[in-house]
Amino acid sequence: MAQAPDAPVSAAPATPPGEFDLIARYFRRPAARALLGVGDDCALLQAEPDQQWAISTDMLVEGRHFLAGTDPARLGHKALAVNLSDLAAMGARPHSFLLALALPAADAAWLEAFSSGLFELAGQHGIELVGGDTTRGPLNLCLTVLGLVPAGSALRRDAARAGDELWISGVPGEARLALGHLRGEWTLEAAALEHALARLERPTPRVALGLALRGIAHAAIDVSDGLLGDLGHVLRASAVGAELRADALPRGQVLAAQPEARRRACQLAGGDDYELLFTAPASRRADVLTAAAAAGTQVSRIGSVHAARELHLIDAAGRSIDNEFCSFDHFAQP
Ligand code: ADP
Ligand code: MG
Repeated sequence: MAQAPDAPVSAAPATPPGEFDLIARYFRRPAARALLGVGDDCALLQAEPDQQWAISTDMLVEGRHFLAGTDPARLGHKALAVNLSDLAAMGARPHSFLLALALPAADAAWLEAFSSGLFELAGQHGIELVGGDTTRGPLNLCLTVLGLVPAGSALRRDAARAGDELWISGVPGEARLALGHLRGEWTLEAAALEHALARLERPTPRVALGLALRGIAHAAIDVSDGLLGDLGHVLRASAVGAELRADALPRGQVLAAQPEARRRACQLAGGDDYELLFTAPASRRADVLTAAAAAGTQVSRIGSVHAARELHLIDAAGRSIDNEFCSFDHFAQP
């Protein structure tokens, strides 16, 4: 902006004091993968031959995506985990990330814990924070992740084919079970709550599985808004239908102990688990299992893909189950 003639050359910054100290202290780390990281107007990343960038942004808003008072270290983990999960769902290898942060106050203890949770997960995936933005405002975390995938080998939502089998990683529904307890919809006993809460607050992005499924799986999506809803995205994008065997969904101990209606609702419509839902040709079943074992991730075969563009939900006896479950839509009427 042009300066008024008499304005001092070093006008006071428009940003709140402490912003740059805050960035330097909590978010600036030496750049190794980036040519230039935090500190200039842009980060500089080396473009890689024969690779494509997979890029995704996810925003976490207090009161909407997490409850006020959520443990900041877990929040740091989750903010990055949900973004890494999108890379996993594309079969992309995480490279780096950016962090746009609105904070009500520069609370040192909160920032220390938040950044430790964030960088711990970043370290596990060998990725670095290359830039971002920091401002005062209601608590809001917006992360952007960048990943790399060999040209043409990303796992896309529109690639499911009739004849594919439908697979899910992990145990979907446990995060929703924890949320129901926090909301007072039901009460879990201490050990079950601890297990389910860890799934809600510290989800594991299935990055290794996504990478291992390249060249084997057709379509993939990460389950963030509920299994049925996210499956619907794949089916619509691929112009196919599916049969989902509700009783083939893995339960684990904690879900198995729940009443059937609650368990089904959590498994089919609960979000926030960040498991991978994917399709693969029946002929690649053994390869899927080998890939999952190599990634150290449990996978379960839960249905099949058909040409007819309908979703059928069936029980163990093959009877059709009414599908009254809808997944989370932020703009749906309450
Ligand atoms: P500009 O005004 O040029 O956009 P900023 O003052 O917003 O720059 O940020 C200075 C530097 O710090 C930039 O490199 C930016 O990417 C980085 N940065 C700002 N906030 C964060 C953050 N929360 N995490 C990581 N890097 C940040
Ligand atoms: Mg800026």
